[in-house]
Amino acid sequence: MVVVLEKNVTQEQLENIIKHLEDYKFSVHKSTGDEQIVLGAIGVHPTFDIRKIKVLDGVAEVYRITEPFKLASRSYKNENTEIKIKDVVIGSDEVIVMAGPCSVENEEQIFKLAEIVSKAGAKILRGGAFKPRTSPYSFQGMGEEGLKLMRKAADKHGLLVITEVMETSHIDLIESYTDILQVGARNMQNFPLLRDLGKTTKPIMLKRGMSATVEELLMSAEYILASGNQEVMLCERGIRTFETYTRNTFDLSAIPVIHKRSHLPIIADPSHATGLRDKVIPMARAAVAAGADGLMVEVHHEPEKALSDGPQALLPEQFTELMEQVKAIAEVIGRKM
Ligand code: PEP
Ligand code: MN
Repeated sequence: MVVVLEKNVTQEQLENIIKHLEDYKFSVHKSTGDEQIVLGAIGVHPTFDIRKIKVLDGVAEVYRITEPFKLASRSYKNENTEIKIKDVVIGSDEVIVMAGPCSVENEEQIFKLAEIVSKAGAKILRGGAFKPRTSPYSFQGMGEEGLKLMRKAADKHGLLVITEVMETSHIDLIESYTDILQVGARNMQNFPLLRDLGKTTKPIMLKRGMSATVEELLMSAEYILASGNQEVMLCERGIRTFETYTRNTFDLSAIPVIHKRSHLPIIADPSHATGLRDKVIPMARAAVAAGADGLMVEVHHEPEKALSDGPQALLPEQFTELMEQVKAIAEVIGRKM
């Protein structure tokens, strides 16, 4: 931690600041410049609240140097985390695609979409059976029946399953049908849920909250890791900004930022990030070019009849074309699909 003192700091204030730092078990190194004094406070205290120093008289600014997350950090583990599920590896040089409808709606729909996405090269079937909807009056998902249908459809077409878990009491049920448990953007900081997911044996995909910083996303991943589950992948799905022409703003730069700070794989979801079918394709291409370890894309064969997120679902032929394009992009940057 670096503590910059005010230019007119008094000797008494300086001594008080140093005493506080030492009481908090930091070793203090003082550098005196022409105009200002800077204190280097050395010591690894990831949970230290820097405001305890900021509020002291004579302090101008405090900067944290060490990251507040540990298990999720590159400095803790340098090699990329590879998550192996059956014959699929997430986080290797292969870009993995998860695709399917926003919600599982009925047997015919999920079987048809499983066939379409697997033929196009997706490895994982996505679909919600328990849906986090903004309105309590909107379709809330098919529940267990949806999980059953999704599992059958995925097995028929050699796909893995990813589906969202919204609450702790559903973990056992959902885990018995799915290969990956998804934590939605609205639950990124549901800490009791994250802790309980840390005790499961299935991989977790943690989506970035719509108003969360990358650091907060990594801190949420830390909850799962610290509770025992090391198989965590992250997902950038857009954040809320002042822009109104897209549903969210796709933070593409989060991909290289996360790769630098963390060993965990990062999946990009251009569907929720943009909310509009015609924007999904260019942003999916961009995400692969930026180094995403995978894509999550919503696809629907009858989007106008979809019970949720129809306007952002790609049509089957658009998805097939996208798959060919991102395969070519992946190869250019030394990856495969
Ligand atoms: C989803 O992927 O089904 C979903 C609800 O997305 P998000 O949590 O990113 O809004
Ligand atoms: Mn959706």
